[in-house]
Order: sequence, then C-alpha cells, then structure tokens
Amino acid sequence: MTPTLRRSPLAGDALVLDRWRGSKQKHRPPAGSYVSTRGGSPAVPISQAIAAGLAPDGGLYVPEALPSIDPAAFDPHGSLADTAATLLMPFFAGDPLAAELSAICAEAFTFDAPLRPLSAHPDTLLLELFHGPTSAFKDFGARFLAACLRRLPRNDARPLTILVATSGDTGAAVGAAFHRQPNTRVVILYPDGLVSPRQAHQLGCFGDNVRALRVAGRFDDCQRMVKAALNDVALQAQVPLSSANSISLGRLLPQMSYYAHAALAWRREHDTPLNFIIPTGNLGNAMACLWVRAMGLPIGELRLACNANATLPDYFAGGEYTPREALPTLANAMDVGAPSNFERLCWTFPDGAQLRRTLSASSVDDATIRHTIAHHAREHGEVFCPHTATAMHVHDRLREQGERGPWAVVATAHPAKFESIVEPLINAPIAVPKPLATMLARPSRAELITATDTALHEVLSGAGTA
Ligand SMILES: *Cc1c(COP(=O)(O)O)cnc(C)c1O
Repeated sequence: MTPTLRRSPLAGDALVLDRWRGSKQKHRPPAGSYVSTRGGSPAVPISQAIAAGLAPDGGLYVPEALPSIDPAAFDPHGSLADTAATLLMPFFAGDPLAAELSAICAEAFTFDAPLRPLSAHPDTLLLELFHGPTSAFKDFGARFLAACLRRLPRNDARPLTILVATSGDTGAAVGAAFHRQPNTRVVILYPDGLVSPRQAHQLGCFGDNVRALRVAGRFDDCQRMVKAALNDVALQAQVPLSSANSISLGRLLPQMSYYAHAALAWRREHDTPLNFIIPTGNLGNAMACLWVRAMGLPIGELRLACNANATLPDYFAGGEYTPREALPTLANAMDVGAPSNFERLCWTFPDGAQLRRTLSASSVDDATIRHTIAHHAREHGEVFCPHTATAMHVHDRLREQGERGPWAVVATAHPAKFESIVEPLINAPIAVPKPLATMLARPSRAELITATDTALHEVLSGAGTA
C-alpha cells in the first residue's frame, strides 16, 4: 500500500500524509471518521457529513485519516465509475452507504471524462469534464451528492431544502441532479446579470422542485447568504436545510475520481506522473486533485489558474490571505474573492510556508483570456471556454519557459455555454451539445431578491410551510 509511484518534489505532500498519519497515531480513529476544520464538532460518519454539508461549528468536514491506496488496486480496464468506486471505498468503509457505493458511482458517472491529446504540444492533454447534462464539471459532484442523499434515511417527514449559491455552473448541475427528486427542494441563488445568458436560462429552466433566485449582488453575497441560513439554528428547526456547494464532501470526493482515472491511465502508458493545471475559483476541483495525490496516485505538479480575482495568486506569491469582493470576469464561474475551500486547504497544509511551496497560482486577466481563446482557435482549431482558457494560458507560458513534462489542462466547461463571449472571438458558431440544447428549449424563470440574509430567510420560511 506504499505510494511508491508518487514523484514528490513538493514537500507539501509529505506534510499532508504527516498530518493525517499524526492524527491516526494519536487517536486511532475508526475508518471513515470526519471532523471539522475548526475542531469544534464531534467526529461523524461520512453519511452524516454528506447529509449535513457544513459542520455544526461552521467549519468544513475533512477525513480524520486520509486513506492511501495502491495504484494496483484499480482495474486497468475499468470505467470511470469503476475507478470512482475503488478510489472512494476507503472513505465509506464502515458506513451504511458503503454497500451502495458501486450503485451510487454507476448512477452518478454516466458520462466520461476523456483525456485527449492536443496538437499544441506533444505532451499536452485536455481533461474534458464537460460531457455531463449541464456541460460543466459540476455535474460529477452534484450527481454523486444526489445519489447519496437519495439513499440516506431521514427521520423528518418534511422536505429537505438544498441551498446552492452559484457563480454560474453549480446551480444548474445541482438543479439537474435533484430535479423531481421526491421530498427534496432546491433553492438556487445566483448573482443577477453576472452569469452568461445560457447559464441564466439553464438555472431557471427546471421548475417543479427547483427554484431559482437572482440576487441583486455578487456571488460572494450569495455564498454568505447560504452560509448564514445554514448556521441559523431557528430557521433550520423550521425548514430542514442542507447545502450543495463545493464545501460539501459529497461533491468534493467524487471530483477525485477523474483525476485518479486520468493519472492512472497515463501512468500505465507512459511510466510518468501526470501534471495538472486547474481553473480555480472556490478550490473544490483543485482540493480533490491534491487529495488524490496525497493518497499516493501518480500525480505530479499542480498549478492553479485563476481569473482576475487574485486572492489565491496573491497568497501564493507570499502575501497575506486577503479575502475580498469578487470582480466580474469572463470566466464567471471562478469569480470568487473568498474561496470557500481555502479553510480545507489550510487544514490540510497547516504550515503556510510549506503550502506555498506545494502549489502555485496565476491570475489571468480578461484580455489574456480573449487572446488565448482566439489564438488556439486560429492556430490549433481548438475552442475553449473562458475558464479553460485561463489554464491553457498558464500552460502556454510553461511551454514558453521550456517546460517539457506531460501536462493535462483541465477543461471545466463546454464553450457553447459561453457562446456570447467565445463566438465573436473565433468568428464561428459553436455546435451546442444535445443536453444543453434540450435545456435551452425549455421556458425559464427566476425571482429577483435583495442580497440580504433576511431576504433569503423570508423565501425559505415561506417555502418551508408551503
Ligand atoms: C466551478 C467552476 C470552476 C471553478 O471550480 P472550483 O472548484 O470552484 O475551483 C471552474 N470552471 C468552471 C466552468 C466552473 O463551473
């Protein structure tokens, strides 16, 4: 079970394992114990951590002991769903959901995450995460979470209300995953006017048990309103609430699967670890990749690509961690000024100096995003969404500096979701994937609310008695 394949030039990895091994030695927790990043909540089994979303002390759930896994444990001919089931089983050991894990993965991972070579460079690949129902990577986490929650017993006859703050893609993925799920409602909050027209259409197209609220504010307001509601004990007593943001382990854990699947496939053929560049906002996708690496799978370096919201790039350049208001950019699903998983990252890497050596982050402005999209379409016939373009730009700079290793650029959304930005840059129409076309053909509606905790409280307490 020793992770021998892992190339670890990055001292931070050893630290991750130390942290978890240290806690193992001290407390010897049963497999599958989940604690809060703030240390003020009792350890709970994974199904409880998934059902709750946020820990009672306001922290984020983390595994008390990160399992390590032998790359040989994976079926080389297995599907993405098979890889997910093998990878995630140790997290569910001893939990009632363990017996259902294969079925959960089969239900959630009904589409692939292909690792496709690009012509830009012989060792450049695109990890395409946009083949799900809403054409962005959020489908993986949302569908897995829904498949878990469907199976968890609730001793409450009232419907569970799932709150989701979205900067564009999460809301649609969660809406699609829970649409018409019995005894469940979804309330989506998104910043009015700050999502693409097709994203807005998707968010409001579900109807039935899914309600879309357009908030007169920014994404960080939506996120704050959701956190306040989840922490409101009186409201929770009246309306049972859960969250589906990337703070939920039920979304984070399944996102580990495609990194494991891609890195293992690459390692089988090439005998080297695969490096990743990840478009980053709330750090959920990147956290998942870091955890896969810490478990001992063959992942090399990791770079974060951010848009003009430079909270993380400033921190990794040596500055203080300074959360701030989000700026609107072309890569709107990454318009985050206070990344919600930062707390998880710091818990995982308690030493800031080590953390800064483990990861790096770059900020990519809108002009560069535009240039990158136009350049790759013209030179290589490849069309990227604005989020993917941030990572592609980080890649291009690495190659300019002579970097020769294998790099997978993570493609987080289909460019057709952002056609109003991309089409004018490439002077050509983008074919719309079928699931997106189906959603665009449905009517769409969203209610406008002010960016206050009270406004959400009113909506929710009304919804709870309806
Ligand atoms: C959500 C999202 C991101 C950012 O992912 P995080 O997990 O929040 O870092 C990047 N690209 C797209 C298309 C997204 O929807």
